[in-house]
Amino acid sequence: MTEPDPTLRPEPLSEDRDRALRPQMLTDFIGQAEARANLRVFIESARSRGEAMDHTLFHGPPGLGKTTLAQIMARELGVGFRMTSGPVLAKAGDLAAILTNLERRDVLFIDEIHRLNAAVEEVLYPAMEDYELDLVIGEGPAARTVRIELQPFTLVGATTRLGLLTTPLRDRFGIPTRLNFYTVEELEVIVAGNATKLGVRVEGDGAVEIARRARGTPRIAGRLLRRVVDFAVVEGGGVVTQALADRALTRLGVDGLGLDGADRRYLQLIAENYAGGPVGIETLSAALSESRDALEEVVEPFLLQQGLIQRTPRGRMLARKAWTHLGLAAPKAPGQADLFGK
Ligand code: ADP
Repeated sequence: MTEPDPTLRPEPLSEDRDRALRPQMLTDFIGQAEARANLRVFIESARSRGEAMDHTLFHGPPGLGKTTLAQIMARELGVGFRMTSGPVLAKAGDLAAILTNLERRDVLFIDEIHRLNAAVEEVLYPAMEDYELDLVIGEGPAARTVRIELQPFTLVGATTRLGLLTTPLRDRFGIPTRLNFYTVEELEVIVAGNATKLGVRVEGDGAVEIARRARGTPRIAGRLLRRVVDFAVVEGGGVVTQALADRALTRLGVDGLGLDGADRRYLQLIAENYAGGPVGIETLSAALSESRDALEEVVEPFLLQQGLIQRTPRGRMLARKAWTHLGLAAPKAPGQADLFGK
């Protein structure tokens, strides 16, 4: 089985650290109009009151701009930015060390906040609610609790799995914000902007072609642009045209909808082995040798958004659009292909 091309997966790769491409202020941030409009109000209000902004939770698939927005918030608020992630905070003390070092109104960003362990999460509750920290000093009968006052701060949490957040944690965020997949038009603006920043000439519908095939995700758009530029430099005199983008993306295995090899394997498996489903996620995970988390967080959200699959209580099912996209005939009644001879 071939590995999915890492270019097409939205998990961060080192080249994403390219700071130059990250929008710096809210006005440079394309798309997510509703989230942006709300954030602008809350930032403005916090700034004029001179208080810490309310705790904010960003949720949505990877690569849509959660980290970027958190950094923008700190910059717009004119405060410091600290960043960590759920799995990194192993002990309560790790978080306590970070919290006690925060300055007044700082933004603390915790990525993958659904992966905090319970002991660390306990520390977070009083910190979020009252800017206080209860530390246990010593062990056994001599142990005592000391309360430490913290500076007011803003916690920004990010998660790809809202459903895995505990209710008490979720309830402590004043501003829950969902990020959605981007439209082709929005991605086109992002691709054109990135091309300018990289000093690359994109002609005609070159940017549209990349935008159309970026899986609704700015991180993928940025990555595809870089790969297309590689082809442009070697084969196209450095200019990205629509024909060149199309050729390059096809060679990279990105199809017309932006699906990559892993997406197509997922759809094909349900079509060919399970007659269109329903089929359980565990079965799919085993058959594709992909973790259930990766399927649920990365592969499925876009397929669902595109109307290629449906989630039912009995498992995943292919929608008609997926059969058409795969160039296969849909069975007459879903799940009954055998009766109709497929
Ligand atoms: P997440 O934290 O949701 O996984 P990031 O904030 O790390 O996503 O964004 C991934 C990449 O996409 C970054 O390189 C960022 O510059 C780019 N990006 C995200 N959102 C936008 C946007 N609205 N406009 C331009 N670039 C964006």
